[in-house]
Formats: sequence, C-alpha cells, structure tokens
Amino acid sequence: MYNMVMWNTQPRQQMDENQLAFLASQGNEQLNQAALQEMLSAQQAMQEVGNAQNIEVPKVNFYPNSHADPRKARRKDIRQAYKLLQPAKRSIFNPMRTLFGKKYRYNKDTGTCVVDGCNCANLIQHDNLYMRICDDETSRSLWDMYWSNPVTGQPEAFIAQDKVTNGKKMRGTYCPEHLHLFHLLVKWEAEEDKQNEMNPNRLRDKVRRGVSIVTVPVSSVKKKDMTPAMLQKYEPFFAELEKDAGKTKGISVLHYANPQTGQNDVTMVVFDLRIFQFEMQQMNMPTQEFQALLNQEALKVQNIPVEQKVEGAVMSAGM
Ligand SMILES: [Zn+2]
Repeated sequence: MYNMVMWNTQPRQQMDENQLAFLASQGNEQLNQAALQEMLSAQQAMQEVGNAQNIEVPKVNFYPNSHADPRKARRKDIRQAYKLLQPAKRSIFNPMRTLFGKKYRYNKDTGTCVVDGCNCANLIQHDNLYMRICDDETSRSLWDMYWSNPVTGQPEAFIAQDKVTNGKKMRGTYCPEHLHLFHLLVKWEAEEDKQNEMNPNRLRDKVRRGVSIVTVPVSSVKKKDMTPAMLQKYEPFFAELEKDAGKTKGISVLHYANPQTGQNDVTMVVFDLRIFQFEMQQMNMPTQEFQALLNQEALKVQNIPVEQKVEGAVMSAGM
C-alpha cells in the first residue's frame, strides 16, 4: 500500500510538482499538496543545515499511504506517524536500561530530539527551521505553535511525551522535521475524531447512555436572537428611539457590553430634559443673520403689489 514514488526511493531533487500532485491526489485527503510540499521543504532544509554545519541530521522516512479510501489511508498514516514519533528506546539487554532504568536513549535535555538524538539547540543557532516550517492552512510556524509557553508567551522548548500524543512528559523534544510530522498527526487525529463523532453507531451509543443530541444547523445558531420574549414588544420603541437619537442630543441609547462575553448586558435610555429645552429654544431662536434674512424677505413681500407677485412667481417657475 505504500507509495513507491515517495522521495526516499528517489533522489529528492527529482521530485517535481507533478509527482507531488499525484501523490497528494491519493490516500489521506489532509495530506494534500501543500502539506506534502511543507514536509519536503522541511526535509530539504534539515539536510542543508546538516551539510553546512556538519551536524548529524536525521531524515524522517514517512511514506504516505495511498489507499483508495481516504479514511483508511489517513488511519494508516496516523499509525505510521505514531511509529516514527515514538521516542527511541534502549535495547532491553542494555545495562543502562536494565540496571539504571534509563529506558530512553535520547532524554538528556530539551535541546535533543527524542527520536534521533539530533542536537536541536545547535540547529536553532544556525537556522531556526521551526520558524520556517509552517502549517499548510494557517501559515503559523511550528515555532509559534509549539515553542512558546502558552501562559507567559515566552519561548520554551516543546516537550515530547512518551506515548507521542499522551503519556508521561519526557525531557527531550522533536527536531523540526519530527515536529512537523507530529503537527500533521495531531491534525489528522482531530479530523478523525470529528468524523467518528458523526458516526451513527456512536450516536446510538450516546442515546443508550441517556445523552440526547439535537443537531442545530450552524446558520440558525448564528441568527439566534438572545432577546427574551418579554422584551421583544419593546423593539418598535427602541427603533423610534434610535431614529430620534439622531435628531436630538436629548435622547441617548447607551449599551454596556460585557468585557468578557462581548454581549450587551445593560441598555440604558436617557432622556435629558435640559438638552431638549435648550434645543427647542435654539430652534425658536435663529441666528442673527438668519433672522435678518427673514426680515428682509418679509419686507419684500409687503412692498410688492399683488399682480407683480403672481407674475414673479410664474417667471421664476419658468426659469
Ligand atoms: Zn528528530
């Protein structure tokens, strides 16, 4: 079931875009061309750094499964990723393991890959590949996603676990290439969980345990109005208020959003009588210039004889 055009069987330089597209079109749907490309560049960058620095650099030989059923292909990819990400153990005949209980081969410090013992600290100093290898969808780098303390935001080494995605925390980490595979594995598993959750068998199982499930379409969730039924009759009142609030400063509708939920917790309507009265006065008391203009017009009307007034009106209408 393994795909034989995989880069490990060929010099990787010969892996062109067409081959990559072909590989991406089969098997695990999430191992798409972008993800494969990222995998490939991670491997290439690791080799380059290794050559430039004479650091012993691993090569992760992951073979994408090409099963016709994308789900089965993904399941096999997941299984393979687990195998490849398993921390290296010492032989059970090794006295270090039997006498000193040191089961894992590379578990000295957070700068060493638990699978291949690659010196990641050295690697970062030369070229921080964790920053250059990104998620194919979000474009977030491995560095951003895994190499900072979630609470303080300070840079902090990623710590591997002895059962890859769970189990005891080890002391070592993953090199960029292994971490990328780890990242893909986490994504694949999340996707698998999502699909399993929709499985009718699991649904039946839940119902049997007394859990009922009501599926709500996403669109209706978005539109859901949080206004209690009793308050709905005030809607027209608020519409009027909003309209008038634009005309006068005497009406303000204030919303106090909850800083945590962003929801509107308190709505206040303020009628300010002083401002109302002031505005009314202003309306009845035009500015001096305007008053002068009005007076002038009034004078004109008084002085003009009736016939002329009509003519003038016709003339101006004709113009
Ligand atoms: Zn590694």
